[in-house]
Amino acid sequence: MQAIVFDIKRYAVHDGPGIRTSIFFKGCPLRCVWCHNPESYKAGIESICSSNRMGDVKVADETEIGKTYSLDQLISEIENDQLFFDESGGGVTFSGGEPLMQIDFLEAILKACKEREIHTALDTTAYATKDKMDRIIDYVDLFLFDLKHMIAEDHIAHTGVSNKLILENLKYLAEKGKKIIIRFPMIPGFNDSEENINMMLDFLNQLPKKLEFHILPYHRTGQDKFRRFGIENNMPNIPSLMEEDTKWVQAIFRESGYKVSVGG
Ligand code: SF4
Repeated sequence: MQAIVFDIKRYAVHDGPGIRTSIFFKGCPLRCVWCHNPESYKAGIESICSSNRMGDVKVADETEIGKTYSLDQLISEIENDQLFFDESGGGVTFSGGEPLMQIDFLEAILKACKEREIHTALDTTAYATKDKMDRIIDYVDLFLFDLKHMIAEDHIAHTGVSNKLILENLKYLAEKGKKIIIRFPMIPGFNDSEENINMMLDFLNQLPKKLEFHILPYHRTGQDKFRRFGIENNMPNIPSLMEEDTKWVQAIFRESGYKVSVGG
Protein backbone atom coordinates (compact mmCIF):
# COMPACT_ATOMS: atom_id res chain seq x y z
CA MET A 1 0.00 0.00 0.00
CA GLN A 2 1.33 3.43 -0.90
CA ALA A 3 0.33 7.06 -0.42
CA ILE A 4 0.95 9.90 -2.83
CA VAL A 5 2.15 12.90 -0.88
CA PHE A 6 3.09 16.28 -2.36
CA ASP A 7 4.72 17.88 0.65
CA ILE A 8 5.90 17.24 4.20
CA LYS A 9 6.19 20.29 6.41
CA ARG A 10 8.13 19.95 9.66
CA TYR A 11 7.95 22.18 12.76
CA ALA A 12 4.46 23.39 11.79
CA VAL A 13 2.79 25.40 14.54
CA HIS A 14 -0.59 26.28 12.98
CA ASP A 15 -1.91 22.80 12.22
CA GLY A 16 -2.97 21.68 15.69
CA PRO A 17 -1.38 21.73 19.18
CA GLY A 18 2.38 21.85 19.71
CA ILE A 19 5.02 21.33 17.07
CA ARG A 20 3.72 19.18 14.25
CA THR A 21 4.71 17.34 11.14
CA SER A 22 2.15 18.06 8.43
CA ILE A 23 1.77 15.56 5.63
CA PHE A 24 0.05 16.82 2.48
CA PHE A 25 -1.80 14.14 0.55
CA LYS A 26 -2.33 14.60 -3.15
CA GLY A 27 -5.83 14.73 -4.64
CA CYS A 28 -8.77 16.97 -3.77
CA PRO A 29 -12.45 16.64 -4.72
CA LEU A 30 -12.93 20.41 -4.45
CA ARG A 31 -11.80 23.22 -6.72
CA CYS A 32 -11.87 26.28 -4.49
CA VAL A 33 -11.14 29.35 -6.58
CA TRP A 34 -8.90 30.76 -3.82
CA CYS A 35 -6.89 27.51 -3.41
CA HIS A 36 -3.36 27.81 -1.99
CA ASN A 37 -2.32 24.38 -3.19
CA PRO A 38 -3.66 23.92 -6.73
CA GLU A 39 -0.85 21.43 -7.36
CA SER A 40 -2.79 19.10 -5.03
CA TYR A 41 -5.88 18.95 -7.26
CA LYS A 42 -5.06 15.79 -9.19
CA ALA A 43 -4.73 12.49 -7.37
CA GLY A 44 -1.72 11.05 -9.23
CA ILE A 45 1.91 12.07 -9.54
CA GLU A 46 2.26 14.61 -12.34
CA SER A 47 4.96 16.42 -14.17
CA ILE A 48 4.22 20.09 -14.50
CA CYS A 49 6.10 22.35 -16.83
CA SER A 50 6.47 25.59 -14.91
CA SER A 51 7.92 28.81 -16.22
CA ASN A 52 9.67 31.58 -14.33
CA ARG A 53 11.05 34.92 -15.50
CA MET A 54 14.69 35.76 -14.85
CA GLY A 55 14.90 39.34 -16.02
CA ASP A 56 13.72 39.30 -19.64
CA VAL A 57 14.34 35.58 -20.02
CA LYS A 58 11.59 33.02 -19.54
CA VAL A 59 12.96 29.82 -17.99
CA ALA A 60 10.98 26.60 -18.34
CA ASP A 61 11.34 23.98 -15.67
CA GLU A 62 9.90 20.49 -15.31
CA THR A 63 8.62 19.87 -11.77
CA GLU A 64 7.40 16.53 -10.48
CA ILE A 65 4.50 16.95 -8.06
CA GLY A 66 3.91 14.05 -5.69
CA LYS A 67 5.98 11.22 -4.30
CA THR A 68 4.96 7.73 -3.22
CA TYR A 69 5.51 6.52 0.34
CA SER A 70 4.96 3.09 1.83
CA LEU A 71 3.45 2.88 5.30
CA ASP A 72 6.86 2.14 6.83
CA GLN A 73 8.50 5.03 5.01
CA LEU A 74 5.91 7.57 6.10
CA ILE A 75 5.84 6.32 9.69
CA SER A 76 9.59 6.61 9.79
CA GLU A 77 9.36 10.24 8.51
CA ILE A 78 6.90 10.96 11.30
CA GLU A 79 8.90 9.18 14.00
CA ASN A 80 11.95 11.28 13.15
CA ASP A 81 10.14 14.17 14.87
CA GLN A 82 8.99 12.26 17.95
CA LEU A 83 11.26 14.29 20.23
CA PHE A 84 9.60 17.56 19.14
CA PHE A 85 6.16 16.02 19.63
CA ASP A 86 7.04 14.86 23.13
CA GLU A 87 8.51 18.19 24.18
CA SER A 88 5.75 20.38 22.73
CA GLY A 89 2.62 18.25 23.00
CA GLY A 90 2.55 18.08 19.20
CA GLY A 91 2.01 15.30 16.71
CA VAL A 92 1.19 14.65 13.10
CA THR A 93 -1.39 16.43 10.91
CA PHE A 94 -2.70 14.85 7.75
CA SER A 95 -3.65 17.52 5.25
CA GLY A 96 -3.91 17.99 1.50
CA GLY A 97 -5.63 18.14 -0.89
CA GLU A 98 -8.00 15.87 0.93
CA PRO A 99 -6.48 12.91 2.83
CA LEU A 100 -9.81 11.06 2.85
CA MET A 101 -9.35 10.52 -0.89
CA GLN A 102 -6.62 8.00 0.03
CA ILE A 103 -8.78 6.32 2.65
CA ASP A 104 -7.07 2.90 2.79
CA PHE A 105 -3.67 4.43 3.44
CA LEU A 106 -5.05 7.11 5.74
CA GLU A 107 -6.80 4.53 7.90
CA ALA A 108 -3.64 2.42 8.10
CA ILE A 109 -1.33 5.27 9.00
CA LEU A 110 -3.72 6.69 11.58
CA LYS A 111 -3.86 3.28 13.26
CA ALA A 112 -0.06 3.04 13.15
CA CYS A 113 0.22 6.48 14.80
CA LYS A 114 -2.23 5.48 17.50
CA GLU A 115 -0.24 2.32 18.22
CA ARG A 116 2.76 4.60 18.78
CA GLU A 117 0.71 7.06 20.88
CA ILE A 118 1.34 9.90 18.43
CA HIS A 119 -1.29 12.68 18.50
CA THR A 120 -3.17 12.83 15.18
CA ALA A 121 -5.01 15.69 13.51
CA LEU A 122 -6.93 15.54 10.24
CA ASP A 123 -7.22 18.73 8.20
CA THR A 124 -10.25 17.95 6.07
CA THR A 125 -12.85 19.33 3.68
CA ALA A 126 -15.08 16.50 5.06
CA TYR A 127 -16.38 16.03 1.54
CA ALA A 128 -16.60 12.27 1.99
CA THR A 129 -19.19 9.59 2.68
CA LYS A 130 -20.06 8.69 6.27
CA ASP A 131 -18.64 5.30 5.52
CA LYS A 132 -15.18 6.82 5.13
CA MET A 133 -15.62 8.92 8.26
CA ASP A 134 -16.48 5.81 10.24
CA ARG A 135 -13.25 4.14 9.17
CA ILE A 136 -11.04 6.84 10.69
CA ILE A 137 -13.13 8.50 13.39
CA ASP A 138 -11.62 6.53 16.29
CA TYR A 139 -8.02 7.24 15.29
CA VAL A 140 -8.24 11.02 14.86
CA ASP A 141 -7.61 13.09 18.01
CA LEU A 142 -8.50 16.40 16.39
CA PHE A 143 -10.45 17.37 13.29
CA LEU A 144 -9.44 20.64 11.62
CA PHE A 145 -12.71 21.05 9.80
CA ASP A 146 -12.92 23.44 6.83
CA LEU A 147 -16.21 25.30 6.69
CA LYS A 148 -16.36 27.45 3.58
CA HIS A 149 -19.92 28.46 2.74
CA MET A 150 -23.38 27.77 4.15
CA ILE A 151 -25.38 28.51 1.01
CA ALA A 152 -25.41 25.38 -1.14
CA GLU A 153 -25.49 27.19 -4.52
CA ASP A 154 -22.61 29.48 -3.54
CA HIS A 155 -20.63 26.53 -2.22
CA ILE A 156 -21.04 24.79 -5.57
CA ALA A 157 -20.19 27.98 -7.48
CA HIS A 158 -16.93 28.59 -5.57
CA THR A 159 -15.71 25.07 -4.78
CA GLY A 160 -17.36 22.88 -7.43
CA VAL A 161 -19.26 20.71 -4.94
CA SER A 162 -22.30 20.93 -2.65
CA ASN A 163 -21.92 21.50 1.09
CA LYS A 164 -24.56 18.90 1.99
CA LEU A 165 -22.18 16.04 2.86
CA ILE A 166 -19.85 18.45 4.64
CA LEU A 167 -22.55 19.80 6.95
CA GLU A 168 -23.87 16.30 7.62
CA ASN A 169 -20.38 15.15 8.57
CA LEU A 170 -19.84 18.13 10.85
CA LYS A 171 -23.06 17.35 12.70
CA TYR A 172 -22.13 13.66 12.85
CA LEU A 173 -18.64 14.24 14.27
CA ALA A 174 -19.91 16.82 16.78
CA GLU A 175 -22.65 14.48 17.99
CA LYS A 176 -20.02 11.78 18.46
CA GLY A 177 -18.20 14.20 20.77
CA LYS A 178 -15.09 14.47 18.60
CA LYS A 179 -12.66 17.31 19.18
CA ILE A 180 -13.15 19.73 16.28
CA ILE A 181 -11.72 23.10 15.36
CA ILE A 182 -13.69 24.90 12.65
CA ARG A 183 -11.44 26.53 10.08
CA PHE A 184 -13.14 29.30 8.13
CA PRO A 185 -11.14 30.59 5.14
CA MET A 186 -12.47 34.15 4.96
CA ILE A 187 -12.46 35.15 1.30
CA PRO A 188 -13.55 38.68 0.38
CA GLY A 189 -16.54 38.71 -1.96
CA PHE A 190 -17.07 34.94 -1.65
CA ASN A 191 -18.07 34.03 1.89
CA ASP A 192 -17.65 37.15 4.04
CA SER A 193 -21.24 38.39 3.78
CA GLU A 194 -23.16 38.98 7.00
CA GLU A 195 -25.74 36.52 5.73
CA ASN A 196 -23.19 33.72 5.43
CA ILE A 197 -21.54 34.51 8.78
CA ASN A 198 -24.91 34.49 10.55
CA MET A 199 -25.94 31.23 8.87
CA MET A 200 -22.67 29.67 10.00
CA LEU A 201 -23.26 30.84 13.56
CA ASP A 202 -26.84 29.49 13.53
CA PHE A 203 -25.63 26.10 12.29
CA LEU A 204 -22.81 25.88 14.84
CA ASN A 205 -25.16 26.95 17.64
CA GLN A 206 -27.23 23.84 17.00
CA LEU A 207 -24.31 21.48 17.66
CA PRO A 208 -24.05 19.83 21.11
CA LYS A 209 -21.18 22.09 22.26
CA LYS A 210 -19.43 25.26 21.18
CA LEU A 211 -16.49 24.44 18.95
CA GLU A 212 -13.34 26.48 18.55
CA PHE A 213 -13.60 28.83 15.60
CA HIS A 214 -10.47 29.63 13.65
CA ILE A 215 -10.47 32.29 10.92
CA LEU A 216 -7.99 31.98 8.06
CA PRO A 217 -7.86 35.39 6.36
CA TYR A 218 -7.42 35.22 2.58
CA HIS A 219 -3.88 35.61 1.38
CA ARG A 220 -2.61 35.53 -2.15
CA THR A 221 0.19 33.00 -1.71
CA GLY A 222 -1.43 30.39 -3.96
CA GLN A 223 -1.98 32.78 -6.84
CA ASP A 224 1.50 32.56 -8.25
CA LYS A 225 1.25 28.76 -8.32
CA PHE A 226 -1.62 28.88 -10.82
CA ARG A 227 0.60 30.79 -13.22
CA ARG A 228 3.71 28.71 -12.58
CA PHE A 229 1.92 25.40 -12.98
CA GLY A 230 -0.24 26.54 -15.90
CA ILE A 231 -3.53 25.85 -14.05
CA GLU A 232 -6.57 27.92 -14.98
CA ASN A 233 -7.05 30.66 -12.39
CA ASN A 234 -10.54 32.12 -11.83
CA MET A 235 -9.69 34.07 -8.69
CA PRO A 236 -10.06 37.84 -9.12
CA ASN A 237 -7.00 39.94 -8.36
CA ILE A 238 -7.88 41.02 -4.83
CA PRO A 239 -5.55 41.96 -1.97
CA SER A 240 -4.86 39.73 1.02
CA LEU A 241 -6.93 40.30 4.15
CA MET A 242 -5.41 41.72 7.32
CA GLU A 243 -6.20 40.43 10.79
CA GLU A 244 -8.14 43.65 11.47
CA ASP A 245 -10.46 42.91 8.51
CA THR A 246 -11.71 39.86 10.40
CA LYS A 247 -12.47 41.72 13.66
CA TRP A 248 -16.23 41.99 13.07
CA VAL A 249 -16.49 38.22 12.52
CA GLN A 250 -14.35 37.56 15.59
CA ALA A 251 -16.68 39.79 17.62
CA ILE A 252 -19.84 37.99 16.45
CA PHE A 253 -18.48 34.58 17.44
CA ARG A 254 -16.90 35.74 20.70
CA GLU A 255 -20.13 37.41 21.79
CA SER A 256 -21.85 34.08 21.23
CA GLY A 257 -19.37 32.31 23.51
CA TYR A 258 -16.94 30.81 20.99
CA LYS A 259 -13.20 30.63 21.44
CA VAL A 260 -11.89 32.45 18.34
CA SER A 261 -8.43 32.57 16.82
CA VAL A 262 -7.06 34.04 13.61
CA GLY A 263 -4.22 33.29 11.21
CA GLY A 264 -2.10 30.41 10.14
S1 SF4 B 1 -10.17 22.09 -0.31
FE1 SF4 B 1 -8.17 23.02 -0.02
S2 SF4 B 1 -6.77 21.93 -1.42
FE2 SF4 B 1 -8.89 21.47 -2.07
S3 SF4 B 1 -9.32 22.97 -3.66
FE3 SF4 B 1 -10.09 23.82 -1.71
S4 SF4 B 1 -8.41 25.05 -0.91
FE4 SF4 B 1 -7.55 23.71 -2.52
